[in-house]
Amino acid sequence: MGNGRSSLLFEKAKALIPGGVNSPVRAWKAVGGTPLFIREGQGSKIYDVDGREYIDFISSWGPMILGHSHPAVVRAIEAACKRGTSFGAPTEGEIELAELIVKALPSVETVRLVNSGTEATMSAVRLARAFTKRNKIVKFDGCYHGHGDSLLAAAGSGVATFGISGAPGVPEAVTALTLSLPYNDIDAATRLIGREAGSIAAVIVEPVAGNMGVVPPEPGFLGTLRELTSAQGIILIFDEVITGFRLAWGGYQNVIGMSPDLTCLGKIVGGGLPIGAFGGRKDIMAMLAPEGPVYQAGTLSGNPIATAAGAATLKILGEGSSYEILEERSRLLCMEIETALSSAGIPVCCNRLGSMFTFFFTAERVRNYAGAREADTLRYARYFHALAAEGIAMAPSQFEAAFLSLSHDENDLARTVEAVKKAIPSIF
Ligand SMILES: *Cc1c(COP(=O)(O)O)cnc(C)c1O
Repeated sequence: MGNGRSSLLFEKAKALIPGGVNSPVRAWKAVGGTPLFIREGQGSKIYDVDGREYIDFISSWGPMILGHSHPAVVRAIEAACKRGTSFGAPTEGEIELAELIVKALPSVETVRLVNSGTEATMSAVRLARAFTKRNKIVKFDGCYHGHGDSLLAAAGSGVATFGISGAPGVPEAVTALTLSLPYNDIDAATRLIGREAGSIAAVIVEPVAGNMGVVPPEPGFLGTLRELTSAQGIILIFDEVITGFRLAWGGYQNVIGMSPDLTCLGKIVGGGLPIGAFGGRKDIMAMLAPEGPVYQAGTLSGNPIATAAGAATLKILGEGSSYEILEERSRLLCMEIETALSSAGIPVCCNRLGSMFTFFFTAERVRNYAGAREADTLRYARYFHALAAEGIAMAPSQFEAAFLSLSHDENDLARTVEAVKKAIPSIF
């Protein structure tokens, strides 16, 4: 079966939309070929416009932790639509979602809802700058915090995928305020923060990096950041847009028992609808308008459909042993894929935390962005296409995570392992 209809649609889209897509990695540029246009998703499967079925590990880049079109989420969305889609006035659904978030994350005393992860990180940075009356921001190479001006330096995700260096369109005066360090490098962070302490407003970090492929934090890395920032009156921002409600109820901070000053959320908390959120210490959050002077607003913020989808998703996730199931299935899947690849003599480094994982095609352990860049991206492209031909949808870039959902059952996992085994000759 060909992908004739996707090809036709892509040609049409390219004439109307830059690159044919509304978010760059969707264009498959890093792996080559024509992106599939998706018609429908049900549970663990997506269907392209040519009628082909794929077991989906892209998961809309993280949000679809229950799988696609979960009946309870669809019902919540339908019910919300019937009551009207936006009012520009407060609604009860906002309280419901805010309460779920505040109860799940001890460090989040109050939370503001926005429309994307990008808005959440941008706003958190502004707030940190206003609170500390300082201007510099520290981030880590290969971490992605959305596409706000201050955070595009040495970024992950699509910026890594396309090898974009620098940030055209961002004034040097802005870039100069962003300092980027290697992930997991405790010494570099200690030196820089010591030297620049008085001018640093915030340190922002993905507590588990997911946008250079998955790179877990090494012991001591996040703890050291907490100590250094506390000692210097610097705001520590955990960007949990991917990790929030992905690795545990709440965020990765719950797993390690740490309290950042501010936390950014998105993806899962919107249940597949556009959303973002940022929250944290009450004294900092109180600086936001209308309580305080830091302006931040949104016509569609706290939108009733998005809050309904988010709350429905979180309620289902919170029932039963969701995270144990995700952990066990992901562990088995990764173990079997790793065994299949390495017994065929293909060097691979599997980085996994809970239900997010990346197979880096390198023999070395990947612990930062420089390490991720050593991976064989041409081999990744062959892996991607060979699996797609077997009906498995992985992310179209080495520098992204794969996600398991609660709807991936044992049959899906067995089919995925079989597909990897069949694909080995083409990956080699
Ligand atoms: C996806 C992501 C963002 C950006 O969120 P958008 O909703 O795409 O703007 C920010 N930070 C992290 C860690 C992300 O994974």
